[in-house]
Amino acid sequence: MKRVERMKPLFLIVVYLVAVTLPLILSLWVGGPPRQFHQELASGLGILAFSMILMEFILSGRFKAISNGIGMDVTMRFHQIMARTALVLALLHPLLYQGTPSGGPRPWDPTRQLTITTDFSDLSTGIAAYLLLAGLVVMAIGRTQLGYRYETWRLLHGLGALLIAVLLLHHTVYAGRYGSQPAMTWVWLVMTGLAVGSLLAVYLVVPLLQKARPWRVSSVVQLTPKQWEVTVEPDGHRGLNYKAGQFAWLNVGKSPFSMNENPFSICSAPAAGPRVAFMIKELGDFTRTIGQIKAETVAYLDGPYGNLTVDGRAEPGVALIAGGVGLAPLLGILRQMRLTGDPRKVTLIYGNRLVDQIAYREELGEEDVVYVLSEPPEGWHGETGFVDAALIDRVFSENEFSEWVFVMCGPAIMMDIVEAHLIKRGTPSHRILSERFNYD
Ligand SMILES: Cc1cc2nc3c(=O)[nH]c(=O)nc-3n(C[C@H](O)[C@H](O)[C@H](O)COP(=O)(O)OP(=O)(O)OC[C@H]3O[C@@H](n4cnc5c(N)ncnc54)[C@H](O)[C@@H]3O)c2cc1C
Repeated sequence: MKRVERMKPLFLIVVYLVAVTLPLILSLWVGGPPRQFHQELASGLGILAFSMILMEFILSGRFKAISNGIGMDVTMRFHQIMARTALVLALLHPLLYQGTPSGGPRPWDPTRQLTITTDFSDLSTGIAAYLLLAGLVVMAIGRTQLGYRYETWRLLHGLGALLIAVLLLHHTVYAGRYGSQPAMTWVWLVMTGLAVGSLLAVYLVVPLLQKARPWRVSSVVQLTPKQWEVTVEPDGHRGLNYKAGQFAWLNVGKSPFSMNENPFSICSAPAAGPRVAFMIKELGDFTRTIGQIKAETVAYLDGPYGNLTVDGRAEPGVALIAGGVGLAPLLGILRQMRLTGDPRKVTLIYGNRLVDQIAYREELGEEDVVYVLSEPPEGWHGETGFVDAALIDRVFSENEFSEWVFVMCGPAIMMDIVEAHLIKRGTPSHRILSERFNYD
C-alpha cells in the first residue's frame, strides 16, 4: 500500500481532532475572568459536545474524502460512537454547574464569572436539543426493533440532526458564557453553517448533479432465486470513475431528490467499460421489486464510495472471502484482475447455504475458486460447512497468511470469525479489508 494511502487515516484523525477542539481552544483564548474548575469543565464539555455533534454531519458516510479514506464501516462506527459520546458530555454539562448561583443578567457580573443564566428561553433550546439527541441515538440503536421503514428513519434522522444543530446554536450563543462573545458567535455560526450546508450538499447539490448525468438500465438478469444483476449504462456522459470493489448509491426510476436510493457494491470491472453492474439480493421494499424493473428505466448513481479495493497494493496475492451476496464487491475485484491480466495470485472462497444460491458459477469457474456449502446436495464435491477457521486453514498456507491481502464481505458472523482467525495466524491488520452491508 502506498505511503500516502496509509497516512490518510492518521491525517483524517488529526483534522477531526483539530475541528472538534477548535471552538474549545478559541473559547479559552477569548477567555474571561477565571471561574472555578468544575464550572470551566461544564462549559468545556458543552462546547465539545456541540462541535462533536456538528462534525457528525460530515461523518454521515456521504463524503468521499472521508469514507474512501478510512472505509465505510469505520466511518459509520465512528459516527455512532461519537454521537453517544456527545450525548454523555451533553448530560454532564448542566450537572457540573451545580452550586453556581443562577438567575437573569446581573449588572455586577457582566462576564458571568459568578453566575449562570436560568433564563428559560435560553435554556429551553439546550434542553430540547438534548432530548432530541437522546431520542435520535435511541432510535438509531433500536431501529431494527422499532420496525419503521428505512426511508422514514433516514428522513427523521436528517431532520432531527438539523433541528438539534439550530437549537444548540441558539443555546450556545444566548446561554453560553463564551458563545455569547462576538468572535465565538461567528465561529459557531460558520461551523453550524458548514454542517447544515453538508446536508444541503447531499440532498440538493448531489441530486442536481445526478440529474445532469442520468443512467439507463440496460439489463436485469435473475442470477439465482433471490439474486439479480442490474446493469446500467451512462446516458450521454462518460460514466463513473471507480475502482473495483467500491460501491455506489443507486436510484432506479425515482426522482434524484427523493430519498429512494440504496447502496450497492459494484460487481463489474472498470476495465470492462462504462457499464456498471450490481448484484442485488432480495431483502425488503426496494430489492424485492428488482425483477419488475424494465430496461431503459432512468437511474441515478452517486459514487463511487468505499475503500474495499486492492488497486495499487504491493502484496503478491489477493484472498477474496465472500459469503452470499457479499460476493458482489469481490467479483468486481476478481473480474478486474482477470481482465487486466493482474500478475498477483488470487483465491476466492465463496460460501453459500444451498447449491442454487451460487451465482456466476460458470464465469467464476473452478480454478482459484473454493465453493463452500453449508447444506450441500448429494454428490457435492466442494467444501462443506461454514467459512470458518478450519476452512481458512485448509485453503491458505503459512506464507499466504503473512504476505497476502485478505478482502472479505459477507454475514457479520463470518467476518468476525475469519478476521479473528487471520489475526491469530499473523496477518497484519492493514492486510485485512472488509465491508459490512449496513449503513446505520
Ligand atoms: C456499503 C454497502 C454495500 C452494499 N452492497 C450490496 C450489494 O452489493 N448487494 C446487495 O444485495 N446489498 C448490498 N447492500 C445492502 C443493501 O443496501 C440493502 O440490502 C438494501 O438497501 C435493502 O433495501 P430494501 O429497501 O430492499 O430493504 P428494506 O427492508 O427497506 O431495508 C432492509 C435493510 O437494508 C438497509 N437499507 C434499506 N434501505 C437503505 C438505504 N436507502 N440506504 C442504506 N441502507 C438501506 C437497512 O439496514 C435496512 O434495515 C449494501 C449495503 C451497504 C451499506
